[in-house]
Amino acid sequence: MNNMLQIELWRECNNHCKFCYLQEENKKQSEEYKLNAIKNAIKIIKDNQTWTNYDSFGLIGGEFFQGQINTEALNKEFFSMFVAIEDQFLHSNIKHFWLTMSLTDTQHIYNSFTFEHFIDSLDHLACIRSNKHVSWKNKENQDIWICTSYDTIGRFHTKEAEETWKRYMKIIKDRSEYIHTTTCFIITQDLIDTYNKDKDFFNKFREEYNTRVYFKCPDIGCNDKTIEDFTKRTKLNNFFPKRADFIKFLYDMAEDGESVDLFNREYRAATLYENIGGKSLRVFKERQNDLISAEDATSPCGHAYWYSRYIDSDKCMMCDRDMVFKEIEDE
Ligand code: SF4
Repeated sequence: MNNMLQIELWRECNNHCKFCYLQEENKKQSEEYKLNAIKNAIKIIKDNQTWTNYDSFGLIGGEFFQGQINTEALNKEFFSMFVAIEDQFLHSNIKHFWLTMSLTDTQHIYNSFTFEHFIDSLDHLACIRSNKHVSWKNKENQDIWICTSYDTIGRFHTKEAEETWKRYMKIIKDRSEYIHTTTCFIITQDLIDTYNKDKDFFNKFREEYNTRVYFKCPDIGCNDKTIEDFTKRTKLNNFFPKRADFIKFLYDMAEDGESVDLFNREYRAATLYENIGGKSLRVFKERQNDLISAEDATSPCGHAYWYSRYIDSDKCMMCDRDMVFKEIEDE
């Protein structure tokens, strides 16, 4: 299990996925707000004490490259932060670096500095360090990850946005030898239907983008209280899965030889520093624990309430996953 510190810089993202957990908290922030956020992050990254407790670092938005750092001051500060990350990375205080990005916007990062330039510089960084780490090709030593998502509904509002995502994934695949990507799918009813129509969907996807695929549970975000509220607001009628279809999906995937990397908490940061108002950071610890405090638990199983997300049942998806995986294992 990784021991990752993750910093959320801000909650500003132009993509406005219909299911996004940020919803009303997703706001355009001032330059001052964002400069403060970056400065706070730099302090934490530069402090060697930080890396006595953690070995991995994750950076998450909102987003960074949809115009969010599109002023001279922000651009300068953002890339100063990258220099600090690079320094800790090259000294192996940061062993694994995870960068979360939606890859849905076509804007240049700043002036003539493009996404391609950014990928080249990250690749170069990983390449330099790999020369010091003979065994880097081991899975354990894959050091720089770009974490992104693909969803068949609610994420791409236009064909162009989806095409942009595909283009960026191809850029990473074609230009970089050292950066790895992981793509998260929400298990929606629409995704299950897509897979049922084409059982080779994930194989083709993985091959095309050379990416690791994992799955997460559909959620209603922080604005809606119930699945009904969510569906009324988003008009995503095919979002939450039917229980029988979900369970069948897990069996089918296993039968097709797919490894179902589902609700894997190992990818979660151990600690998240969440940006509050650009001034301070709220700290969440022990985020890899599934059996959480009583107020968040779903009685009687003990899993968090956000795993109860079937359209037609109150049952817990985590319990169903465990049941299916156990049966498969016992066979
Ligand atoms: S890309 Fe991520 S942060 Fe942006 S709107 Fe979608 S879910 Fe939210």
